[in-house]
Amino acid sequence: EGRIVIVGASLAGLRAAEALRERGFRGKLTVIGDEPHEPYDRPPLSKQVLEGWVHPDHTRLPRRRAVDADWRLGVAATGLDRVNRQVLLANGDKVDYDRLLIATGVRARQWINPREAALEGVFTVRTCDDAARLQAALHADPRRVLIIGSGFIGSEMASVCRKLGLPVTVTERADGPLVGALGGVIGDIAARMHRDAGVDLRTGVAVEALEADDGGHVRRARLSDGATLDVDVVVASLGSIRNVEWLEGAGLASGFWGVGCDAGCRAFDINGVVTDNIFVAGDIARAPHVLYEYQFISMEHWDNAVSGAQVAANNMINLETERCPHLPLPMFWSAQFGVNIKGVGVCSFGDEIVFTQGSPDQRRFAAAYGRRGRIVGAVTFDHGKWLDYYGALIERSAPFPPPPPGYDRPGDMTP
Ligand code: FAD
Repeated sequence: EGRIVIVGASLAGLRAAEALRERGFRGKLTVIGDEPHEPYDRPPLSKQVLEGWVHPDHTRLPRRRAVDADWRLGVAATGLDRVNRQVLLANGDKVDYDRLLIATGVRARQWINPREAALEGVFTVRTCDDAARLQAALHADPRRVLIIGSGFIGSEMASVCRKLGLPVTVTERADGPLVGALGGVIGDIAARMHRDAGVDLRTGVAVEALEADDGGHVRRARLSDGATLDVDVVVASLGSIRNVEWLEGAGLASGFWGVGCDAGCRAFDINGVVTDNIFVAGDIARAPHVLYEYQFISMEHWDNAVSGAQVAANNMINLETERCPHLPLPMFWSAQFGVNIKGVGVCSFGDEIVFTQGSPDQRRFAAAYGRRGRIVGAVTFDHGKWLDYYGALIERSAPFPPPPPGYDRPGDMTP
């Protein structure tokens, strides 16, 4: 049965460990994670945890059953020796593997100026410890908040701040929130959501410097348009950096883009040759997707980590037999300003968008994204029950624009 080592003890790592045991792997299983915590869930960190109604310690990922594994928590992997098939740990230990799963995810990109990033009152949110610190700061006085960046996580945090009644400014270099993932049309709707909730949203502008008081606490931000803001809490929500450093010199196709792998989660080596004993899953993976002309995509979404873990586990134990062919369709969700946003496919691949159901003005709608006459993605605002419909269209590369659901069955149409 051999020895399987999983590096990264979070969503993808845990779900892969579970899947391996459930599918009958009886060999030695070791899971290595640098965080001291048991695997926990990150989506609540920018939502319920900040709001204060879920304690950071209560975000542990639910488990179907205990996983029989050697859990090495609180110790980082620092190197990979592919010749001797060993993972090197920060405490000097070496862990032997026959098959390895890389699931080390990403970390938050810190504020660009390290001296300013270290000021009291400047935060990023990726871990439950980060969220606990920010939660405490938001629930103390005084609390004028600045959020730099309005992707999904920045927007969710802005929404929480308004729920808490805090004055919050959001700065965004692009023309609107969520533009990178969902494009300008949805960005305009998202901008109205921010402003209607009382967020001071400033688009097309960058923060240039953060300034501190004599005690080293951040108190002011200078913007590229010459404006200054008085602030007590600054959250840099600037995207992520992939945790690939420990793979340096291992001869894998790894870099700032992640770790390249085939559609069955098998890692590529530096020559682009697929390895047969190293697998990749979750936020760190970059895989060609059959539904997107085999373009390499990375998806920093919960569902992608779970499905990647399943595919990797299948292929880790069925090396010589059945091969799990391709990653399922990407899906994502977000909750902000009272709206449940859900998406399927890769919306950023689209160069056209059409509203197919509901009303954009009421922020209750479905919209489809198209490219070269085919549907490639869809996003829904409070219309999530239609996600499967759009997913099925994307899976069969249906023509764009798609018919509204229930096209030939009017009874199925939503109002
Ligand atoms: P991670 O969860 O990042 O886990 C990787 C683990 O590996 C971490 O514990 C890390 O510390 C560890 N590690 C890193 N390097 C090493 C090393 N060298 N040695 C040992 N261990 C190491 N997705 C959605 O779809 N919807 C949402 O609403 C949503 N909200 C989110 C909100 C927040 C605040 C965050 C941070 C993420 C959110 N996501 C959301 C994204 C989702 O949580 C991620 O896609 C998911 O966590 C990815 O899982 P992963 O296991 O690949 O990586």
